[in-house]
Amino acid sequence: MCALCGRELKHKYKPKDEWQIEGYLCSDCHIEKMKEFASRPSQQQKQEEPDHCAVCKAELGDVAVKARWQWEMEPGTLLCQPCFNKKEAEYTKRLNFCATCGAKMGFIRYNPKPAWKIKGQMCRKCWDARNSQGK
Ligand SMILES: [Zn+2]
Ligand SMILES: [Zn+2]
Ligand SMILES: [Zn+2]
Repeated sequence: MCALCGRELKHKYKPKDEWQIEGYLCSDCHIEKMKEFASRPSQQQKQEEPDHCAVCKAELGDVAVKARWQWEMEPGTLLCQPCFNKKEAEYTKRLNFCATCGAKMGFIRYNPKPAWKIKGQMCRKCWDARNSQGK
């Protein structure tokens, strides 16, 4: 009898060890199992931990967006769409507005010294002020 469907066996098929089946299979069940195990790798991939947004930790479906490299996040960091938009807005703001006083910067902007631990760029006024404070 087939170990899976219980049908009487005309031809016995020996199950593979990794199937962990006792006894023999009919040809139908054998083919089914072959297919099942042949497609295992892709099934396992689907069952892998779903990706999570790096910011809000929400589970990501097909809407995962890669963080921009300019954002200084781990390469390949994935975000959900809302967080991506937020980051993008933040980044644009950081790019165009003074990190200290928030004034919109023109073409000329100043990079803060590393010791100041200020993210973004500064307007001239703030840079001068910060610089005159010394170390
Ligand atoms: Zn069977
Ligand atoms: Zn998010
Ligand atoms: Zn400023």
